Amino acid sequence: MSTNRLYELRCRECGKTWGNVPRSFCEDCFSPLEVAYDYDSLKKIARRENLARRDFNMWRYSELLPLPENFTGPNAVGGTPLVSSRKLAAKWGLKNLYFKNDAVCFPSLSFKDRVVATALSAARRFSFTTVGCSSTGNLGQRRRRASRAARFRRLRIHSPRTSSPPKC
Ligand SMILES: [Zn+2]
Repeated sequence: MSTNRLYELRCRECGKTWGNVPRSFCEDCFSPLEVAYDYDSLKKIARRENLARRDFNMWRYSELLPLPENFTGPNAVGGTPLVSSRKLAAKWGLKNLYFKNDAVCFPSLSFKDRVVATALSAARRFSFTTVGCSSTGNLGQRRRRASRAARFRRLRIHSPRTSSPPKC
């Protein structure tokens, strides 16, 4: 089943739906759009046992992502581990407490890898040849690296003049 039918964009404020298109805000009230899933349809195809058989990275959850038809992940992005914190859990009176360790997120060891991989996949889905972002450092670097790997024709990164010095 195509992911086109599993979700659509919906205005957070006025509730107007915009389908599955490359748009970030509601043209009626200028509020941000959010993803509204068709959970009944999603339950039929994104079954726990099927997900468990896939590689442990973000592409495991492909039904939830805006991917082109027959998409195969360019590399293993995400799949970062949960780390148990027994002492802090005990101090806070919790039975279990876990932290997501995004310091081991591949390929660039940044949690932004997942955002960039998703955005570039969506751009590919909508047949964009040029991608861009606004960044003061890390996001721009992740996007530059991933855009080259995904072979986009052009990349634009806008950095405000008041931003901090470039980050490595
Ligand atoms: Zn709206």
